[in-house]
Amino acid sequence: MVLATGCVTNYFGLKLPESGVYSLKTTYEAIQIRNIIIRNFENIVAKGADAPEELYNIVIVGAGPTGVEMAGAFAEMKKNILPKDYPRINYSKVRIILVEGSKTTLTAMSTTAQEASLKFLRQLGVEVRLGIFVKEFENHIVTLSDGEQLKTKNLIWTGGIKGNLIGGLEKSMIERNNRIIVDRFNKIKGYNDIYAIGDIALMKTQKYPNGHPQVANVAINQGKSLAQNLKRVQTGKAQEEYEYKDRGSMATVGKFKAVVDLPYFNFNGLIAWFAWMFLHLMLILSVRNRLIIFINWVWSFFTNDTSLRLILSEEMSKDPSISRKAEQKLKNKNLHLGGS
Ligand SMILES: Cc1cc2nc3c(=O)[nH]c(=O)nc-3n(C[C@H](O)[C@H](O)[C@H](O)COP(=O)(O)OP(=O)(O)OC[C@H]3O[C@@H](n4cnc5c(N)ncnc54)[C@H](O)[C@@H]3O)c2cc1C
Repeated sequence: MVLATGCVTNYFGLKLPESGVYSLKTTYEAIQIRNIIIRNFENIVAKGADAPEELYNIVIVGAGPTGVEMAGAFAEMKKNILPKDYPRINYSKVRIILVEGSKTTLTAMSTTAQEASLKFLRQLGVEVRLGIFVKEFENHIVTLSDGEQLKTKNLIWTGGIKGNLIGGLEKSMIERNNRIIVDRFNKIKGYNDIYAIGDIALMKTQKYPNGHPQVANVAINQGKSLAQNLKRVQTGKAQEEYEYKDRGSMATVGKFKAVVDLPYFNFNGLIAWFAWMFLHLMLILSVRNRLIIFINWVWSFFTNDTSLRLILSEEMSKDPSISRKAEQKLKNKNLHLGGS
C-alpha cells in the first residue's frame, strides 16, 4: 500500500475556517478566491460611497511562494486590470496586505531572493507586515499579534500545510505537521508493506535532516524511485536510496519581477521573470496545451487583460437542479443565463 494523500491547509489551531477564511490548496479553492474578489468588487460598485472598508482590503497570510506570488498578482490586478472593469472605484482605498510570522518573505529561499521579493512587493504597493501573526478573525476583523485590526471580507490563508493523514497508523510514526516517517526507500518505519511518498512523507537524510521540501519534484521522483525499488525487490536486486536533487526554486512577484535561486547562484528581476515563464511553460503537458497557454500569456502580456470574469457558484456546479432553479428565477425576471 502506498500513501500519497498529500497535505491540507494548516491553520495552526486557529478557528479560521468557521469565520470565512479562504485557502488555496485545490483548483476549486482558487476559483472560489477569484469569485469572492470579483463579487466584492461588484458590491463596492453597487454600494458606491457607502461601501465598507472590509470590501476593499485584501489580506493574505503567509509570505511563502504562494502568498508572495498572490500578493504580487493582486497588486498587478489593482494597477492594470480591475480599473478597466470597475472604473468608478477609488483605488487608493484598495489595500493589499501580506502578513508573515517570520522576519522575512520566502523563508526557504536565499537572502538575495528574500530581500528582492520584499523590495518588489513594496514597489508594487503591497503592505508587508513581517514578524506578525494572525491571532483571530471574527466579524470580518483580523486581529494581529501587535494589536492591529484589519477589516476584510477577503482573508486568504497561505500560512502553511499539514499532512492529510488517514486513520490507523501508529502515532509514533507521525511527526511535526502530520508527516509520516519513512526510511530511504519510502517504507513507513515499523511496517513491512506500507509506503508513503510526496508531501505526506518525512524522509530524513544527512542533506535534509528535517525532511525534504514539500514540492512536486520530490513527490514525482519519490513515486518513480519507489516503483523502481518495488521492481528491484521482485527481481531480487538491491534497492536504491532516494535523495532529492535540488535544481533550484523560483517565485514570481508580478510582471517583470521574479526571484530565482539556482544551486550555485541566484538572480532576480526581468531575466528571472522570463526564466520563470519559460520553465513553467515547459512544465505544461502536451505541445497543444503549451501553445494555447503561450498564446494566452502573450495576449495577456500586451493587453493587460483577462477573459476569466465568470463568477462560478459551488452550489450551481455541484447540483444541476439548483442551476435549473436559478435559471427559472432569471427567466421569471426576464433575464437569461449565458452559456452553461
Ligand atoms: C498553491 C500551491 C502552489 C504550489 N506551487 C508549487 C510549485 O510551484 N512548485 C512545486 O514544486 N510545488 C508546488 N506546490 C507543492 C506541490 O503541489 C506539492 O508538493 C505536490 O502536489 C505534492 O504531491 P503529492 O502527490 O504528495 O500530494 P497532492 O498533489 O496533494 O495529491 C494528493 C491527492 O490525494 C488525494 N487524497 C487525499 N486523501 C485521500 C484519501 N483518503 N483517499 C483518496 N484520495 C485522497 C487528494 O485529493 C489529492 O488529489 C504548490 C502547492 C500549492 C498548494
